[in-house]
Amino acid sequence: MQSSLPSVGFGHVRFGHVRFGRIHAHALTFDEALQAIEELCARGEGGYVVTPNVDHVVLAERDEALVQAYARSSLSLVDGKPLVWLSQAMGTPLPEKISGSDLCRPLIERAAAKGLAVFFLGAKDGVAQRAADVLLQEHPSLRVAGVFSPPLGFDRDEGKNAEVVHRIREANPALVLVALGAPKQELWMAQHKDVLAPAVLLGIGGTLDFIAGEVQRAPRWMSDAGLEWLYRLGQEPRRMAGRYLVRDRAFAAIALRAILSHRARSN
Ligand code: UDP
Repeated sequence: MQSSLPSVGFGHVRFGHVRFGRIHAHALTFDEALQAIEELCARGEGGYVVTPNVDHVVLAERDEALVQAYARSSLSLVDGKPLVWLSQAMGTPLPEKISGSDLCRPLIERAAAKGLAVFFLGAKDGVAQRAADVLLQEHPSLRVAGVFSPPLGFDRDEGKNAEVVHRIREANPALVLVALGAPKQELWMAQHKDVLAPAVLLGIGGTLDFIAGEVQRAPRWMSDAGLEWLYRLGQEPRRMAGRYLVRDRAFAAIALRAILSHRARSN
């Protein structure tokens, strides 16, 4: 594993990372990831968590801002079997897939138990509120600091963006679930981590849609078989075809390069 990026850890335990093209993922188990996020919140210094998948790896090839957003993140958790398989093929296996969607509920459970206030940002109007309501029903002691689904394009409008930042700061959450999709959420978190500290930001993509029941998540067996993308393609063919069938074809070449360069380094 390379050492050009800071390793993460808690207490005396440190974790390495694996590089995929221009971005990286930390080598943590699911439980360690939960603990690391809690630790980030406890440190009170802010920071943000990214969850790389095949699409992020492909996007990063041509997006310097996304590469920088990854480099500045506090924690990078691998979201998707294909990257776990690639890490195995490289000879530096990551312990397991840790998607933002899988993390959300256990994280909410811990936040409720510890009294950490959570802010829900993103998704279509009303969806984030429905998701927060579902989670509140599951964990009545959950402290919901705030819920806001900003209008599309808010991040390109200085006034609207400032309003979002203001709302979050006023709400003073320990954790912000950022559901804006990639690469918007990664870029937004990198840009706002300092102004939002000590809140810790976690990019969760379409998770609020799943929790609110707006979009059906792939069955566990498909996700375990690395087929979540196929399920999502079936659900939203128009939106997902460009991502999975066109753009992400570039992944094969990036994966091959990662394996070969890793082998060359270890020889
Ligand atoms: N979204 C948003 N604002 C935007 C763009 C997207 O709130 O400007 C939301 C969108 O409604 C959805 C989530 O971000 O809830 C992105 O979902 P997607 O499935 O694309 O995310 P992925 O997990 O694939 O990155």
